[in-house]
Amino acid sequence: MPQDRERPDACPGAVDVHRAADGGLARVRLPGGTLTAARFDVLRRAALELGDGGIELTSRANVQIRGLAPGAEHELGARLRAAGLLPSPTHERMRNIIAAPLEDNQDLVDAVDAALCRVPGLADLPGRFLVTIGAAVSGLGGDIGLVGDALFLAGRDSGLRVTDPVASVVAAAREFQAIRGTAWRLSEVDGGVRRITAALGVPGPAVVAPAVIPVAPGPHGDRVVAGVPLGRLDARLLAGTPVRVTPWRSVVVPPGTDTSGLFTDPASPWHGVSACTGRPGCAKSLTDVRADASRWIGTPHRGSVHWSGCARRCGRPAGDVVEFVATGDGYEEIR
Ligand code: SF4
Repeated sequence: MPQDRERPDACPGAVDVHRAADGGLARVRLPGGTLTAARFDVLRRAALELGDGGIELTSRANVQIRGLAPGAEHELGARLRAAGLLPSPTHERMRNIIAAPLEDNQDLVDAVDAALCRVPGLADLPGRFLVTIGAAVSGLGGDIGLVGDALFLAGRDSGLRVTDPVASVVAAAREFQAIRGTAWRLSEVDGGVRRITAALGVPGPAVVAPAVIPVAPGPHGDRVVAGVPLGRLDARLLAGTPVRVTPWRSVVVPPGTDTSGLFTDPASPWHGVSACTGRPGCAKSLTDVRADASRWIGTPHRGSVHWSGCARRCGRPAGDVVEFVATGDGYEEIR
């Protein structure tokens, strides 16, 4: 459905922070989610010294630091730049690349990220722009995606097969920027997929089905997936640890990592439960939704459960979800 966006998207950046009810909110893009131990420690210390002591994991495998005092974003930006976490001052907000977290794909992610950042005309892509890399995340609705040599557009196999995946993503991004008008996402552009496909080549049949394959907590070969309760990581945890942030509010860490405060059992009552920010961080919230969700933990449930502090239902995961939405007089359960 074509949509005409009358205003630019308001996605926060690491320096261009959002003023939330509890202070500045900085979103740090982590293409592919991978952080060396040194870079993760920079984020941890920033959260402890400049923010409220927590690191929020987003559904795009980025991180957020909140509770920043006015002006603290400048110190945060300086620390991130020194650590190499802000490689492009112009392209910061469009660096949204989700990668299948258990695949060996970070080199490809880095190459795509660097190539996109080298094109000046792509600096104005919306903060909602998204690239996915890998089958496990191909159903997360990326504007552009790669599954092997299959090029995805607007979350579906375009039928195009590519020999140079980096160049193909850049070419598709250029076309999207050229045709998008005020749209934020490719799916909002009338005929957008057809127009990009026509510009890039002759498609064959679309045979690769989009998929979302979350990684469960626990050991996976030579790595461990640790779930983060309600997606908020205490920044005192995981000191000196390389991590890979997943889009499912968890982190991939080396075996033997101290995972105190996290969960590695898929039967954990925290598994599959998410919540929006709620009070005190969100002025629209009708309640402290995270505290309410925490009190509810232990109630038997199956599948995904999402708690929201108001009817906007921010952060609702894709797929089948049982929702609890605050009404001001308790919660409405939506199935
Ligand atoms: S769902 Fe409502 S309360 Fe929760 S973060 Fe969004 S606007 Fe705020």
